[in-house]
Amino acid sequence: MSTDIQKTNLLGLNRQALRDFFLRLDEKPYRADQVLKWIHFNGVQDIHAMSNLSKTLRDRIAEIAEIKPLEIAYENTALDGTHKWVLRLSDGNCIETVFIPEKTRGTLCVSSQVGCTLNCDFCSTGKQGFNRNLTTAEIIGQVWVAVRSLSQNNGLHDHAITNVVMMGMGEPLLNFDPVVSAMDIMLDDFAYGLSKRRVTLSTAGVVPAMYKLREISDVALAVSLHAPNDELRNVLVPLNKKYPLRELMDACRDFFKDEKRRYVTMEYVMLAGVNDSEMHAKQLINLLKGVRSKVNLIPFNPFPNTIYKRSDDQVIAKFQQTLMDAGINAITRKTRGDNIDAACGQLVGKVQDKTRRSLRYQKSLKTGLA
Ligand code: SAH
Repeated sequence: MSTDIQKTNLLGLNRQALRDFFLRLDEKPYRADQVLKWIHFNGVQDIHAMSNLSKTLRDRIAEIAEIKPLEIAYENTALDGTHKWVLRLSDGNCIETVFIPEKTRGTLCVSSQVGCTLNCDFCSTGKQGFNRNLTTAEIIGQVWVAVRSLSQNNGLHDHAITNVVMMGMGEPLLNFDPVVSAMDIMLDDFAYGLSKRRVTLSTAGVVPAMYKLREISDVALAVSLHAPNDELRNVLVPLNKKYPLRELMDACRDFFKDEKRRYVTMEYVMLAGVNDSEMHAKQLINLLKGVRSKVNLIPFNPFPNTIYKRSDDQVIAKFQQTLMDAGINAITRKTRGDNIDAACGQLVGKVQDKTRRSLRYQKSLKTGLA
């Protein structure tokens, strides 16, 4: 057989896709379960190491498929233990993945796109422009690398990762199918076996895709709200012009309508003098009436040349108290990993920008228009 065929990367196949793969080889579906376990649970990269498959079958698989992980370009640990990987993709782009250890859990923050198209004003990923969507293999590959790397380098055992949040670079709902397939693998008992409450997709509010997501996936949902009225949200999250707050809130109400004990997490970045007043808190309380939700206040993480500043701690505390007094479950997210640029909104990777937005942004900085 010719060697220049494009081999299938088995890393990117969820259980159903692996079953189809084996069906085409005229093999039984349970082969998919075995292989899924070898790749994700055991971390095997060599098809010939899959000892419960016959030698003939291993040879056949190896001819047409491979397990191709992502390459670590750079990694670093922050003073607080937060660990960041810069991962190089085969086309030279780089993405970032971050692990945040806490006492009772370990959260992995995973990217869904190279850059982002949404251009939220306070997010540095947006300023890098956009190159392309990640494949399923590149999304789940971040979990694969993180699990292996943590157990090798830090002496942590394999299951240090208890939670995954799709809160890295990119808008996951604009890369729908690969993100859903990768989350299937995160939840699969033969792979990472994470509970549906511990895998969270975060969206800036791609409303039609939110309705679609609830039909086919069980994962938890976070929404990047950041403003309690359309006028301000149009500026901070320009996607709001397409899907305004009324539509977004309808989609949030709908999301867990059949699961009375689940809440949508509302992310709200605290920007000094922009969205952090008592009036904004009151508007937010009104907006969230009848939406089963909890609020995560995120102190703004600065990046070079941004016009925004973080709200003072007392302002954040007061905002949180106002929400809590109105019966809203509100917490303030601790800033983690900021001394290595691994905090929310600081992930930039290395994006070969196709939108020319990063170029325009650099120019506007020079002319003082940013
Ligand atoms: N596109 C998705 C996934 C990104 S999640 C989304 O918007 O939800 C990353 C989270 O960090 C989002 O809530 C985002 O709004 C927030 N964020 C972005 N830049 C930030 C910054 N500079 N400081 C704090 N939070 C930021």
